[in-house]
Amino acid sequence: MLRQLQRDLLGVSMSHLMNTYARLSVSFTHGEGVWLWDTAGKRYLDALSGIAVNTLGHAHPRFTAALNAQIGKLIHVSNVYRIPEQEQLADKLCELSRMDEVFVCNSGCEANEAAIKLARMYGHKKGVENPCIIVMEKAFHGRTLATLSATGNRKVQAGFEPLVKGFVRVPYNDLEAIRQVAERNHDVVAVLVEPLQGEGGIRTLDIHYLEQLRELCDQQDWLLMLDEVQCGIGRTGKWFAHQHTGMLPDVMTLAKGLGSGVPVGACLAAGKATGTLQPGNHGSTFGGNPLACTAALTTLSLMEQDKLPAHAASIGEYLMAGLRKNLAAVPGVVDIRGQGLMIGIELNKPCGALVPQALEQGLLINVTAENVIRLLPALVFSQTEAQQLLDLLCPLVTNFLTQGA
Ligand SMILES: *Cc1c(COP(=O)(O)O)cnc(C)c1O
Repeated sequence: MLRQLQRDLLGVSMSHLMNTYARLSVSFTHGEGVWLWDTAGKRYLDALSGIAVNTLGHAHPRFTAALNAQIGKLIHVSNVYRIPEQEQLADKLCELSRMDEVFVCNSGCEANEAAIKLARMYGHKKGVENPCIIVMEKAFHGRTLATLSATGNRKVQAGFEPLVKGFVRVPYNDLEAIRQVAERNHDVVAVLVEPLQGEGGIRTLDIHYLEQLRELCDQQDWLLMLDEVQCGIGRTGKWFAHQHTGMLPDVMTLAKGLGSGVPVGACLAAGKATGTLQPGNHGSTFGGNPLACTAALTTLSLMEQDKLPAHAASIGEYLMAGLRKNLAAVPGVVDIRGQGLMIGIELNKPCGALVPQALEQGLLINVTAENVIRLLPALVFSQTEAQQLLDLLCPLVTNFLTQGA
């Protein structure tokens, strides 16, 4: 009864869906580029792109054509057989990342599960009985039991105890804290870190942190594992966020933007992590099927043709400059930060209320970590569309902050 009442008040009709999302009461019928249309015909500028998923925007003609062609040929055969599209995808990802091998799965949490299993196997192979992985405060790695245990947000974990053991938590961006763990804990086999935290509030690492962490991992014979599920695939202006530095990880996970909307994830390994997982150690029924791999291959190839990583960097700079010009001096704006098309505007108070206000104005944005407005536009955003985004968003934020608490 109560739930029915809550749903009626929220304007959501009775549904048999498990109540796992506090959804906005809007549905879309179709999209084109960075625009979406709802069931009433109203148009929205999409600055969220399905949470960093729709790399190429909506209904990209060349992407749609490639998917249609693949659906007409083959969708799924299983990993009992060789899958040429999966082998091509692995080749392409290794070419772009200079890594050595790839496990293809269907989502970010699965990519991280593969990484966690790989790290444990790596530990066992060198005689560590209870391998531990260092993870960060405010990290987000997914909602499966292992990945929620690795996540640094109590809200994600509460109610699901007992958590998976084998994680040691340290503050983000604090190398000294990791050095201290190294001194007292001899079961550590890997460090798992997002080069740029997404759910945690668009938090960036100090420029030298990753390079110094690389050195420390080499000294300790640990695997350096980067969760690039959100910040990878061109979003920060490079193919992968760690490419803003000179270091290479041992393991990297990808998902969100990889298939431009078709579910596909990947766990990549290099150097000493290569060859750790062998037949029988890991698998996925759906993972790496011809349809998902065609989506990923086509996404990467169109990104390459249209130079989308560099485009993301320049549109990101344009947006950042506009946000700074319009918002930096507004009382209540604490910080404007990010890289490429992964941008956060931190306010001095919770700002979830901005999401429905923006929706009303025909703009799709997101709020994370309670008081950070998060922008994750598709990589195909034009400068005109970026200006439209600024014109819609900046007055909303200014009004929100100046109307009083
Ligand atoms: C979204 C996200 C995940 C989880 O991905 P799913 O596809 O939802 O399982 C893991 N890590 C990071 C950094 C993410 O942003």
